[in-house]
Amino acid sequence: MLYRKLGGSGLKVSLLSFGSWVTFSNQVNQEDADGLIKTAFDSGVNFFDNAEAYANGEAEIIMGRSLKKLNISRDSYCISSKVYFGGELPTQRGLSRKHIYDACHAALKRMQLDYLDMFFCHRPDYDTPIKETVWAMNDLIRQGKVMYWGTSEWNAQQITEAFQVADKYNLIPPTMEQPQYNMFERHRVEIEYRELYKNFGLGTTIWSPLASGLLSGKYGKKIPKDSRLNVPGYEWLKNDFYFNEGEKIKKVESLKRIANELGCSMACLSIAWCAVNEDVSSVILGASNERQLKENIKSIDVIDKLDNEILSRIDKIIDNKPAVPRKY
Ligand code: NDP
Repeated sequence: MLYRKLGGSGLKVSLLSFGSWVTFSNQVNQEDADGLIKTAFDSGVNFFDNAEAYANGEAEIIMGRSLKKLNISRDSYCISSKVYFGGELPTQRGLSRKHIYDACHAALKRMQLDYLDMFFCHRPDYDTPIKETVWAMNDLIRQGKVMYWGTSEWNAQQITEAFQVADKYNLIPPTMEQPQYNMFERHRVEIEYRELYKNFGLGTTIWSPLASGLLSGKYGKKIPKDSRLNVPGYEWLKNDFYFNEGEKIKKVESLKRIANELGCSMACLSIAWCAVNEDVSSVILGASNERQLKENIKSIDVIDKLDNEILSRIDKIIDNKPAVPRKY
């Protein structure tokens, strides 16, 4: 395993981490989760990602139990939760001080923990002043309930405002963002946040490195029966995959030739491609079974194979390299 600093902080996180969205509770039961968490930890993964929204809290309960069963010391791993998508009532969602406080305590209870290593604002909340959110996160850190707080899918302007508020009131600023990043989704991580890495030392824990499995190369003409696209409630993903006359699927077919040349799977090529970007602190893996997880962890050995020549061949195929804005 390789380790990177979480942005400008002193925390060293594994370059590959492991998350539970869609999988835990829907596709992965407690026994399977125990095995997956053990496999990840034994491979050097030290960051496990979760959220209050994942399976309505059930994913946190499962992950908490798995880590307890492993009987590893609390200082050997990091665990996160995210706040925003709580219940249906007005007080149960968003980023008000109240919901942040309630969500943190509920996550700690579900995961059987004394503190969270990372606590993310799962989306921006247009109804709550950013100042209130920054203040609430600061207070949780001062109370020892949270170590580092961050955002997820906030735009650069909102993140900048959070840093400005923190600076003005001497509060603890966000340490990391959790954006989507993969071969088909590049602009935010590569362009929009550029100044934030430089000016604030923002770290990133990126999600969906395989674009929900599309970049594993398993979606040809057919959707495999046991895959995410057939999990009830996630049918909307199909639109993204099969619209556009299957353009993305065609590109994946071309990318497979590069994976073959490098002697790795398409999944490993895609994950390693994300990890090559040094503004990425950690690539959060998703896996619905042991075989996938073991395969995906092998991507660590592929990173060094992605030299400039290979990267520009990939760019040519995916044909979406975002342009760096000109400075005037
Ligand atoms: P991926 O894009 O890597 O998709 C993972 C899924 O792809 C697996 O569950 C599996 O689905 C399939 N897959 C994985 N490996 C293979 C393989 N080797 N061969 C074939 N199929 C494979 O990541 P996720 O979308 O799961 O995101 C990772 C994590 O990021 C989440 O668990 C969560 O913690 C976080 N996240 C955060 C978000 C946010 O808003 N902050 C949003 C989304 C995710 P299947 O077997 O069912 O086809």
